[in-house]
Amino acid sequence: MTAKKGITILGATGSIGVSTLDVLERHPESFHIVALTANNNSEKLYEQCLKFRPDYAVMVMADAAEQLQSRLANTPAEHTTVLGGADALQYVVSLENVDYVMAAIVGAAGLLPSLAAAEAGKRVLLANKEALVMSGKIFMDAIHENNAELLPIDSEHNAIFQCMPVANGAVSKGKNGVEYILLTGSGGPFRDRDLKTLKHVTPEEAVAHPNWDMGRKISVDSATMMNKGLEVIEACWLFDVPEDRIQVVVHPQSTIHSMVSYNDGSVLAQLGNPDMRTPIAYSLAWPDRMTSGVAALDFFELARLDFEKPDFQRFPCLRLAYEAHRMGGYASIALNAANEVAVEAFLNRKIRFTDIPLLVEEALEHAPSGTPSILNDILVQDSSSREHTESWIKNNKISLS
Ligand code: NAD
Ligand code: MG
Repeated sequence: MTAKKGITILGATGSIGVSTLDVLERHPESFHIVALTANNNSEKLYEQCLKFRPDYAVMVMADAAEQLQSRLANTPAEHTTVLGGADALQYVVSLENVDYVMAAIVGAAGLLPSLAAAEAGKRVLLANKEALVMSGKIFMDAIHENNAELLPIDSEHNAIFQCMPVANGAVSKGKNGVEYILLTGSGGPFRDRDLKTLKHVTPEEAVAHPNWDMGRKISVDSATMMNKGLEVIEACWLFDVPEDRIQVVVHPQSTIHSMVSYNDGSVLAQLGNPDMRTPIAYSLAWPDRMTSGVAALDFFELARLDFEKPDFQRFPCLRLAYEAHRMGGYASIALNAANEVAVEAFLNRKIRFTDIPLLVEEALEHAPSGTPSILNDILVQDSSSREHTESWIKNNKISLS
């Protein structure tokens, strides 16, 4: 019998975290849960601790950690060690008995712990695309230099990974006959909406994705198609391809999760029901496969698959992401930071939906050219772009521009 794999889940209480636990629960003989982490949702982490009994539970908010520790006393999870603060995230990814790290924190907050997992030589299951968009080469170098493994959880990148000739390595244009990556995206809830009404979109409408059930930030990103933009940059880093070799294909049914086009005319695609448990199970079991709880596709139910070109006028965020990647690493950091701040402000009803790309464009105009070579420069650019966007929102400059 092979030993159980130890796993830490960063962002256990989120949409990806919960799907990961659902898959792990189906394979108790193969995995041991070392740590579960959350930002401030102590209620959900409490329930997860009772059910999964991890060695460690981390709450970033220190007072929430204290609360959790006292609630776990005299329960079946009383042996769980509760830690508080962001530094504890890096500790629980680096522990010796951790083999796999699910990196499923949303946004820039996931960068340091995801990078720590790479530096500790773990198998990194990367859902946190923002971390890779921000750190690009530094992240990929950390993976290679520490003999870590990087398995993409994003459904598109997981699909591409499955369609690539080299299972886990740099696959670039010209190598192995790969010509293009065809990155599919549903187009979100506003694909057909009258353009003139987009400025009146509410947070409730924006988070109601037609096919996927996800966290609020990525749902808004899907509505602006910034999500696809971030994914273009993510794919460039993961598969070592330039951005002009990545074609976004709007595919409203979200059945084909992405494709790879080869120089002999072959196009390989990965298909499945839109359920993140498939890429999660694939990455946990790789190079094998294991059950995920997801039903197989019924092609007679599907009946048809549709495809469209992306509309850059409707989705300026997609154009801005291509532009940012062309500009360099600082611009990608600025794009991500401004977008995170703008999405939060939109969800809090401080700005309009259509202000999001305006704020991102403004941040790009202020980004220096070039690419940071050390982590500290990434963090400095991230905070400076955040401050810039926050001040634009606070001073209401967007509606004046
Ligand atoms: P979510 O909002 O549902 O969950 C986010 C998790 O991160 C929570 O556990 C939360 O406690 C934690 N978190 C939030 N802020 C934090 C902070 N400052 N410090 C530490 N932890 C913090 O998000 P999600 O939908 O699960 O997405 C997670 C990541 O996976 C995102 O990067 C997203 O782009 C990516 N992703 C998600 C999906 C999906 O289907 N949900 C698909 C592909 C990629
Ligand atoms: Mg995706």
